[in-house]
Amino acid sequence: MARLVMKFGGTSVGDIERIRNVAAHVKREVDAGHQVAVVVSAMSGETNRLVGLTRDVSPLHDAREYDVVVSAGEQISVGLLALALQDVGVAARSWLGWQIKVETSDVHGAARILDIHADGLEAQLEEGRVAVIAGFQGISSAGRITTLGRGGSDTSAVAIAAALKADRCDIYTDVDGVYTTDPRVVSQATKLARISYEEMLEMASLGAKVLQTRSVELAMAHNVRLQVRSSFDAADSAFPEDGIVGTLICNEDEIMEQEIVSGIAYAPNEAKVTLLQVADKPGVAAEIFGPLADAAVNVDMIVQNMSADGKTTDVTFTVSSDELERALAVIEGLKGKVEFANLQAVPEMAKISVVGVGMRSHAGVAQKMFKELAEKGINIHVISTSEIKVSVLIDSDYAELAVRALHAAYGLDDETIDT
Ligand code: ADP
Ligand code: ASP
Ligand code: MG
Repeated sequence: MARLVMKFGGTSVGDIERIRNVAAHVKREVDAGHQVAVVVSAMSGETNRLVGLTRDVSPLHDAREYDVVVSAGEQISVGLLALALQDVGVAARSWLGWQIKVETSDVHGAARILDIHADGLEAQLEEGRVAVIAGFQGISSAGRITTLGRGGSDTSAVAIAAALKADRCDIYTDVDGVYTTDPRVVSQATKLARISYEEMLEMASLGAKVLQTRSVELAMAHNVRLQVRSSFDAADSAFPEDGIVGTLICNEDEIMEQEIVSGIAYAPNEAKVTLLQVADKPGVAAEIFGPLADAAVNVDMIVQNMSADGKTTDVTFTVSSDELERALAVIEGLKGKVEFANLQAVPEMAKISVVGVGMRSHAGVAQKMFKELAEKGINIHVISTSEIKVSVLIDSDYAELAVRALHAAYGLDDETIDT
């Protein structure tokens, strides 16, 4: 007997038929004698609809009320799944974040899980009943409902798995594993049997939304055996004994043949901001980026260059497109405190990243990227690197072309697929 956490995302619970299919997957594991906690997202499209409603009422909304609204989708799906399970003879009840309770920080809209009081869940599992848990939501110390950021149900699932000391956490979604790049962008993307926590962390944070970044961080910290697999597989298929059919996210030393490059990640909605002719003196960077941090604007890439006049510097940084307006308002507010001649913003940029732990020991990965993009006539605006990734910022019109070209150049294309 094992203890399993099974997480189902939005498309996997998209309508009543899909919810019944989830119930069949859960029943399979219960019938095999396992203890099961299920974590679910809102039905697909529902969270976007709720976000839209809050924006329609008030663009500069109170984040506490935003969380009350956008967390509501999960309340519906847990109730429906508990009913569908009962309907097929599986004892189940629903749990909302506050009922468990999933204690979080009070950063509404992007809260972090601080603690999970899992006693109630544990008692229920021991009685052989299924706990159906609302993902994405928690409660702050002030007793207010919080949410964990978009895609946060993955993080709920991993945190629950860690709290329950589960043997495995299976993330069921609409693809059958983690691929070398988004299979919806590159049809020749190859499914990975395994990927290291570290590479998955980079892939997720650089745009591969198949797992929320924080969920990978938590899995790595708590050694949660994490798998991405498909909810579209027939629920009654004969799966292998260890239950690994998708992609296992694991420690590097569990991977036998490590490629130099494991994948290409792609973040489509980036914006570039440049302050021209900034006074070249100590403390200026802190004066610019301090207020941005205070306004909770997430700055990603940063470069500083000598200006054309040779006396001042140009400072360029990137933020996600949704945060551009807020970033520009902060910079406008700096006028008078920070000297600069001009402010430029380019909203439609994309960040393309090449990821692989093999880069630590192999030179030339970045060079190949630059050469390939040059051959396609794609201009690079900003470059940033870490030990296991190289990222470039390019015009978003070229993003898909760049991803396809790089995927082929690093030998990641699945040769068995005809295009
Ligand atoms: P869910 O609703 O189940 O949480 P998401 O839409 O959040 O599902 O994540 C699954 C999607 O992630 C896939 O449909 C796929 O388009 C996208 N994706 C992006 N990069 C990758 C990748 N490298 N491997 C697999 N899927 C990816
Ligand atoms: N329903 C939430 C969202 O759409 C959480 C999730 O799906 O993981 O972001
Ligand atoms: Mg998701």
